[in-house]
Amino acid sequence: MKQSTIRGEVLQGIEKAMRRGDDEASSIGTRVILPSSFTGGRRYMFNHCQDAMAICKHFGYPDLFRTITCNPNWPEFQRFTERERIFIADRPDISCCVFHAKLKCLLSDLKEGVFFGPLSAGMYTIEFQKRGLPHAHMLLWLNGKSNLQSVEIVDEFICAELPNPLKFLALYNIVTKYMIHGPCGRIRPSSPCMKDGKCSKFYPKRFVDQTSFDEDGYPIYRRRNMGVTVNINDVDIDNRFVVPYNPLLLMKYQAHINLEFCNKSNVIKYLFKYINKGPDRVTATVGETYNVGESSQVVDEIKQYYDCRYLSPFESMWRIFAYDIHHRWPSVQRLTFHLPNQQHVVFDDADITLMRFPDGQSLTYMEYPKKFVYCSNSREWKPRQRGFSIGRLSFAHPAAGELFYIRILLNVQRGCTSFRSIRTVNSVTYGTFQEACSAMGFLIDDKEYVSAIKEVAEIASAA
Ligand SMILES: [Zn+2]
Repeated sequence: MKQSTIRGEVLQGIEKAMRRGDDEASSIGTRVILPSSFTGGRRYMFNHCQDAMAICKHFGYPDLFRTITCNPNWPEFQRFTERERIFIADRPDISCCVFHAKLKCLLSDLKEGVFFGPLSAGMYTIEFQKRGLPHAHMLLWLNGKSNLQSVEIVDEFICAELPNPLKFLALYNIVTKYMIHGPCGRIRPSSPCMKDGKCSKFYPKRFVDQTSFDEDGYPIYRRRNMGVTVNINDVDIDNRFVVPYNPLLLMKYQAHINLEFCNKSNVIKYLFKYINKGPDRVTATVGETYNVGESSQVVDEIKQYYDCRYLSPFESMWRIFAYDIHHRWPSVQRLTFHLPNQQHVVFDDADITLMRFPDGQSLTYMEYPKKFVYCSNSREWKPRQRGFSIGRLSFAHPAAGELFYIRILLNVQRGCTSFRSIRTVNSVTYGTFQEACSAMGFLIDDKEYVSAIKEVAEIASAA
């Protein structure tokens, strides 16, 4: 072999190795991010869950939990399908438009206090079953009566009995059409809700004369044995199979509208269960195969989002129309923060030197949006003229060190005008934010601190 050829091959080999090395080097630790502005992405859901928690922190636990399911028998659908002689399932665009319009109407009714009086806050998420129609889960905070675990409030808004058909025939017809569970249990063991010989939704319930709460705070709704029944599939169904509802809401919106009293924080997690369980998926492989080795190096959130994702026609239409899958009120303002000289593009040191108004001296950074509005154009805070907003600090993992400590301090320190003032406790300026936290008694000693951090980290990873 000629010397020059060998040299050429060696050079090619080196070049190849270098190229491979470059590829490997560039892929290690690479992250492809799907930003939180992308509707339905993991970061979007995580941020909305955090916003929901901020509302909880401010108003306490929600009072009412409501689910509304799109009803294919709505007159708007019926008129259209009869005229066009088609099935409504074949026109997901029409279904989405109508459901969205109904939801908008319902939202304005709720905000005006039509059904439950004035509300202090509310939120909903839209979900799509694999083949089914869209439905919305909604949480409501009652104004004035919030966080009262009272039988009167439950009885005022929620009913779990069949209405008397002689007095309320229209309501009786709607309840028997939309608000009956099953039948299941001994009457019909083949019902899809039956798991291991029992109804997974705990139907039939017991007859009880009075509404009460069990030891865990869950309501047991009044279901009297009054002899009112409805015959479904040759079975007489009584109050034990009625799904809790609100009569006014049901009469106006005529759909499956389940209303429950909640007063628990775990409903927030239910609302955002997507975060834990992820979207619906199907097992399928088209083209490119999933390489485990590769995925351990490159975290590609866009790929993860698409990976075997199942999109129903309804969900596709909902997204094409750019309808929101989450809504809440009042607004929550996300507040960013950073360590000295580590600022991001938008915010700079001026954020922290925000307390120049006399009113601001008594506020923490988180309380600021209640009294002031951030003007992104002039990049300054101005006294709020109207409205109301809840502030929430961006998440910082306990492993983030000083960033985690500055977050703790921003929650409690009032009237801060500089980084120095954030780490000043009782007129003593500490060298680090951790030391300032320690001086405030947040970290009792190193051992306790380590276990506390572990605990927080576990909660954070579970959330
Ligand atoms: Zn059942």
